[in-house]
Amino acid sequence: MSETSMKKISACPGWLGLTEDRWKFVFLPERAEVVRNIFELAIGGMGSYAIANHLNREKIPSFGPSQTWDHTTIDSMLRNRATFGERQPKSYAGGSKKGVPVGHPVANYYPAAIDEATFNAAQAARRQNLISGRGRKGNNIANIFSKLATCAYCGSEIKFDSHAKSLFCSRVINDDGCTRTAWSYLDFELNVLGFLAHPALAEKLNLKQQEIMSDLVGLIMQRSDEKVYSARFNITLLLKEIISELSISSAGSEPQQRLPDALIGRDISGRFFEIRLWDGPLYRGISVG
Ligand SMILES: [Zn+2]
Repeated sequence: MSETSMKKISACPGWLGLTEDRWKFVFLPERAEVVRNIFELAIGGMGSYAIANHLNREKIPSFGPSQTWDHTTIDSMLRNRATFGERQPKSYAGGSKKGVPVGHPVANYYPAAIDEATFNAAQAARRQNLISGRGRKGNNIANIFSKLATCAYCGSEIKFDSHAKSLFCSRVINDDGCTRTAWSYLDFELNVLGFLAHPALAEKLNLKQQEIMSDLVGLIMQRSDEKVYSARFNITLLLKEIISELSISSAGSEPQQRLPDALIGRDISGRFFEIRLWDGPLYRGISVG
């Protein structure tokens, strides 16, 4: 028997319990299941903010005294190799609070909630998130409405053009007719998010939908600070969940006939979008910029 296993245990990961005499770990299946869920969500590309929001929405009690989840708890769990049973002995000499690793990690020390392959898959997904977020400065998810918006005139997909930084009907991009008009991306995003953040919108929603909307509004507020990437990433996920229809009338309600080789008109006055959340009513939003 190693020296460590002869001692009473002073602390253990949140998803494990201890026997009353503090000599042994107790595996808590419900908590292990929560750990597994968190890893699955991370492997699916969800960020720690979205995971914490999701658990709070589902009213899953946290493992600590606070009852709710926050992204730092999720982050540290996703990095914690104890989830698959590994223990890294540490020294707390010299007053180090976090401890300094000493010696080799010990495999199968803790009862495992997941296997090592799952742990590694989650690390890979998180790296992928970071890389895709770093590529473009600031506005690092260029189009949060990707695959959500359609052209009100012809029903084609609305696409983002990174050179013009605008949204176009895909027929316009392909020189295949439609109105030859576009909407500056930033103007569009500010107007749609401003519309969604309006408190009056929540009145028509049920309780569960209101909770999701308030998460979304919280994220919209975070866009401008240092958490911009994770906020935009999570906004993108939530928009996919709540928006059932988003059509864009980039040339207003009475688009003029334009020649096929006409210059593309951008930010035409009278432009509007129509949006439906879940199975609710269709709302019309205009540019207030
Ligand atoms: Zn079109």
